[in-house]
Amino acid sequence: MMKCTRCEKEFTFKFLNVQQWLKETKLDSEQLSFLLYHYGGPLCDECLADFKSSFYASGVNPAMAVPKSRQ
Ligand SMILES: [Zn+2]
Repeated sequence: MMKCTRCEKEFTFKFLNVQQWLKETKLDSEQLSFLLYHYGGPLCDECLADFKSSFYASGVNPAMAVPKSRQ
């Protein structure tokens, strides 16, 4: 099990490593660097879907970042 760095929910990580996961997500480089900078690791399927659909909808949405209180 792995803990999602965004919602802190536990989820099944079915990849060998983060590199493989990143390849599978098919995120572009901008999304990738944002994700790694703000979350530092894999997200659960829900958060990933959310991340993908909202990333370009409103530019980089500050609400996507981890709140300071949780860091
Ligand atoms: Zn999540």
